[in-house]
Amino acid sequence: MAKVSPMTVEWDNCPEKRRLIEKYDVQGPRYTSYPTALQFSESFSEADYRALWPAITPNIAPLSLYVHVPFCENICYYCACNKIVTRKKEKARDYLNHLEKEIHMQSAVIGRSRPVTQMHWGGGTPTFLNGAELTELMHNIASHFRLIDSESREYAIEIDPRTVDRALLALLKGLGFNRLSMGIQDFNPQVQQAINRVQSYEQIADLMEASRLFGFKSVSFDLIYGLPHQSAATLETTLRQVIALNPDRIALYNYAHLPDRFPTQRSIDRLALPSAGEKLAMLAQANQQLREAGYLNIGMDHFVRPSDDLAIAQQRGQLQRNFQGYSTCMAPDLVGLGVSAITSTREGFAQNAKTLDRYYAAISQGSLPVERGLRLNDDDRVRKHVIMRLICNFELDLNEFETQFKTTLADYFSAEIPAIQELIADGLIQLDRQSLRVTAAGRSLIRNICMVFDRYQREVPRTAFSKAL
Ligand code: SF4
Repeated sequence: MAKVSPMTVEWDNCPEKRRLIEKYDVQGPRYTSYPTALQFSESFSEADYRALWPAITPNIAPLSLYVHVPFCENICYYCACNKIVTRKKEKARDYLNHLEKEIHMQSAVIGRSRPVTQMHWGGGTPTFLNGAELTELMHNIASHFRLIDSESREYAIEIDPRTVDRALLALLKGLGFNRLSMGIQDFNPQVQQAINRVQSYEQIADLMEASRLFGFKSVSFDLIYGLPHQSAATLETTLRQVIALNPDRIALYNYAHLPDRFPTQRSIDRLALPSAGEKLAMLAQANQQLREAGYLNIGMDHFVRPSDDLAIAQQRGQLQRNFQGYSTCMAPDLVGLGVSAITSTREGFAQNAKTLDRYYAAISQGSLPVERGLRLNDDDRVRKHVIMRLICNFELDLNEFETQFKTTLADYFSAEIPAIQELIADGLIQLDRQSLRVTAAGRSLIRNICMVFDRYQREVPRTAFSKAL
């Protein structure tokens, strides 16, 4: 595949760009998977789940592991994650008991021979667990799956800086994690108060210093734009502070205010939210500031240092995407462990029970806690290939497509040709005999481009997703 140089998107206030933004300001998926979770069926059985893991002997293909810890001590008003807010630390004990039984059952299905090249603990807040509990959980995983100590492994954990000190960071490094993801959101005190997430710059700076000292390979910051009381000026200050701390990766998410779907968002003062125009100004501000600081925009809100593995993978056309974002060494199959966790294999997807009661009940009965899922059909595989290539590498190699699927893009997507031509006319993609490429202007509208190739988009209500901008 031809190389694609990561480029930042130029956002300014020119009338043509404003026209495109208004035209494409519709709700759409973030494509952490295709088909998206909305297509998962409730009539997916445990037998269907087992069929996602065909028996291959010996199976030494790399494996990814996701572990979900659902608890948080405090509620952040903007949050749309699946979490349980509680101060009762004893809840962790019950959860660990069930999670460890699930790990045992999953290991019996998948086997222990596959090297785990990628592991991610997310939530909720994984650091809701104390040091002894984190150690116990890692020990249990290591007893049932083949963890590796190669430098190339990606073992990441999301940390809430309010629940972590230097001693716990040292423990995480000792347990084998080599990547950290920190929820920052914004450093402005008024914004922090409005979203109920108060954490000082000094706290974060201290953890950054410690993470370098302990040798974490990569630290990623999560930021959000579009929060109450934010403006381009406040974001500029936050980004200046962020840049001074020099994280390897920055994810800058668009806050989607959907209080009907996420009741805790009702605590956010709607009148304090920035307008669509102000959000655009923030996006322009962030793109410019991060570019000047040397970060590359690899797409879908992610900025990385040019030397970062993600930037290099994108240049090689090898970037991948999963439920945790972008990845370089994603294994072909990922097992999700814990309440609401999603498993993704070459055959399809499955999601665990979304409530603790149902998750515990299934495990207590000796059943895998799978509640819904989807087996990929031939059409899903074609469209998944196109969407994942575009969203990760901004390019679809047409020769590769034809070799793999024994058809041409024009033949397979004949019904979509008018929509594809519209994307070309709007300057968002370019198409020639070799490839379909996303232009610089198209990169910020990549969700909209992918939606053209998504068969299910015709069936899904618009309110099911957040807006692309
Ligand atoms: S943002 Fe993170 S810490 Fe805050 S409530 Fe959501 S999951 Fe918990």
